[in-house]
Amino acid sequence: MRVLIIGAGVGGLAAAVALRADGHEVTVAEEAAALRTGGAAVTLWSNGTGILRDLGVSLDGVGAPIDVLEQRDADGRRLVSVDVARAARVHGHPHVCLPRRRLLERLMDALPDGVVEFGRACTGVSQEGGTVRAGFADGSVGEADLVVGADGRRSVVRDQLWGGDPAEPTGWGTWQGLGPVPIDVVSSRVGLMIAGKGGSCGLMPAGEGLLQWWFDMPWSPDEPPLAEPLAEIRRRFGHWCTPVPEVLAAVREADVELFPHYRHRVPRKWGAGRVTLAGDSAHSMPPTRAQGANQALEDAWALAAVLRAKPDDVPAALREYERKRSRKAGIVARHAGREDINRLPSFVSRLAPDGLTGVYYTRWLAQISDFL
Ligand SMILES: Cc1cc2nc3c(=O)[nH]c(=O)nc-3n(C[C@H](O)[C@H](O)[C@H](O)COP(=O)(O)OP(=O)(O)OC[C@H]3O[C@@H](n4cnc5c(N)ncnc54)[C@H](O)[C@@H]3O)c2cc1C
Repeated sequence: MRVLIIGAGVGGLAAAVALRADGHEVTVAEEAAALRTGGAAVTLWSNGTGILRDLGVSLDGVGAPIDVLEQRDADGRRLVSVDVARAARVHGHPHVCLPRRRLLERLMDALPDGVVEFGRACTGVSQEGGTVRAGFADGSVGEADLVVGADGRRSVVRDQLWGGDPAEPTGWGTWQGLGPVPIDVVSSRVGLMIAGKGGSCGLMPAGEGLLQWWFDMPWSPDEPPLAEPLAEIRRRFGHWCTPVPEVLAAVREADVELFPHYRHRVPRKWGAGRVTLAGDSAHSMPPTRAQGANQALEDAWALAAVLRAKPDDVPAALREYERKRSRKAGIVARHAGREDINRLPSFVSRLAPDGLTGVYYTRWLAQISDFL
């Protein structure tokens, strides 16, 4: 079958790898001139790493394994510790934090030259009979038996199918970066989350001596962008417990990137006929549960599986894929949208013994995954 995927992000590239493995003839049209490798790091949990292994995409030599997530208050008191290594053991796949660009590179490496066509911005899709046509800004038209809109939060394909942009700001934003910050976390297997008045700070080892660091603060699209975000971050967080001051001393204004938080209410039906969606185009979510990339990988894996099971009825296979994925991705988007990582955990959750939080986390991953 001829498959045209719009967008070469994590979702589009993973779908290309999965569908090519089943013998489909796949083209990926990406509007940018090269891979968009921005963003700091992403954490792939057992569901994401398991899917990559299943697709034959190696993560050898990249990223840092994560065994524990620890939450502290701004004075440095340990509040909750989650033994996420338990989930890795039970599900049989590790958790790895790695630069977003490394993940894109590894997915690209799994595709032959020519599958991804850069500089092709999709402007719309139309269907007639069993054929889907995609129009591009350069005036060209692509024809396929199936089109997957993996074109991110501002998806053109979704806009045509659903109309408007249903993603809403949650009121928060992440100011983040990735770099060689000299603190112990960099060489550990521990992700640190520190919450306090006015926001939170997160620190994750990302491999190659790099630290992913971020600060979550209230954000609104109506407010003018901060001229010097690092100065504001230092003002708000500079007096927090170690290692926050050390991180703030090591980074520069130019290192800071804003990632605003948006969330979709995920509908049950994403597409029509022979057109569907994958990844953020269907379910944008804030990074608070670190599942955006993992859920895009889940989409790629599930899409290939339903098409394998129902090769003779593509529209029915696509609706089944959407039903399955909307349920799980919808749960994650709802939880992520609560932004609870930016508040101190409740008294009850602070009392939970470490063993119990590990069990809860293992179940949560299974609950939000079609793969595990
Ligand atoms: C530059 C960048 C930085 C990011 N940084 C972070 C981050 O720091 N933290 C985080 O949690 N998430 C981040 N994300 C989002 C994260 O990558 C996604 O949540 C997740 O990986 C799902 O990816 P996706 O493939 O669905 O969407 P995306 O990663 O957004 O990829 C969509 C792709 O489609 C392309 N595209 C868009 N419109 C068109 C069009 N009309 N025609 C053709 N191509 C089109 C885009 O250029 C992009 O390459 C970032 C995304 C991008 C693009």
